[in-house]
Amino acid sequence: MKLDLRPLLAENIRVLPVDFLLPPPVEEDGIAANLYGVHFPSELLVQGEITNTAGYMRMSLSASIPYVAPCARCLEEVTGTFSFRFEKTVAPAKLLANVAEEDADDYVIVEDGFLDVDEQLLEMLVLEFPAKLLCKEDCAGLCPQCGKNLNDGPCTCSKQETDPRLAPLAAWLERHKEASSKDEP
Ligand SMILES: [Zn+2]
Ligand SMILES: [Zn+2]
Repeated sequence: MKLDLRPLLAENIRVLPVDFLLPPPVEEDGIAANLYGVHFPSELLVQGEITNTAGYMRMSLSASIPYVAPCARCLEEVTGTFSFRFEKTVAPAKLLANVAEEDADDYVIVEDGFLDVDEQLLEMLVLEFPAKLLCKEDCAGLCPQCGKNLNDGPCTCSKQETDPRLAPLAAWLERHKEASSKDEP
């Protein structure tokens, strides 16, 4: 979305409301690792304002998008809405030349009276989106042996006889489990 900042730059207005929808990142763009398996069924809702205070322009937006993602432990679908804030100083390109590279992220550039932050918003969405989502905090996950979803109840694997070659390990694990549960308050 190209935002027309000319009325703001001319100081005809002091506050420019921002409200638009942005298509979500598509998989063909080469999706980031943390978005693997994540689906965005609708657009990114971007709302906020740009203010001009005696020539100092500040962009303050909030963005939110519904998602469908696999639980990191049991792979069941998790749905929700992810939101993030986008706060930047709006500056003309020529002014930005004097800004140190490490601070450049705090700025968005207005060119010929227009501002386009679509790319930066999508970048931020990809960066900030949680790498691990859980269907519930205490999700039991899948059995590593049979793949059963342990949220639906225990599987029979644990009842099966342990391979005798692994018996010492199993015994150690059992002791370790007891020891660590005793540590808990
Ligand atoms: Zn889960
Ligand atoms: Zn199992």
